[in-house]
Amino acid sequence: MTKLTKKQRAVIREKFGGKCAYCGCELPERWHADHVVPVVRKLKAVKTGHHTYKLVSTGEMHYPENDKLENMYPACVECNLYKHAASVECFRKMIVDGFRGAVNRSQSLRCAQRFGMLTVTPAADADVIFWFEKYQAEKESAR
Ligand SMILES: [Zn+2]
Repeated sequence: MTKLTKKQRAVIREKFGGKCAYCGCELPERWHADHVVPVVRKLKAVKTGHHTYKLVSTGEMHYPENDKLENMYPACVECNLYKHAASVECFRKMIVDGFRGAVNRSQSLRCAQRFGMLTVTPAADADVIFWFEKYQAEKESAR
């Protein structure tokens, strides 16, 4: 899809009440239009030094059929960058596993846990409920 028009962005922004489809924060001025079902951009390695490379987007997509307005959700920059090219279910798992891993890897967090400053409740993927799911459930029950 070519660059979104202002009107298209305004439509996407209002899909879930002007909030991030995932965390539900009020969308700041700068936000992203996320492909819910990922398009997965093609990457190429560009040499940056003698033995160093960085990956940059070629502009092409592995799944261009997903590049349509119905498949775009408004997302805050943080959620969109963290979700990257993941599906909704993968993103849900990333949040749970990421938190679990952060506690396991952090001596400070484990110490805070031992001293009762931090309570970590075991979370399951089902505990992560995205804003768009709550929003859609609210709309359904209002009918
Ligand atoms: Zn967010």
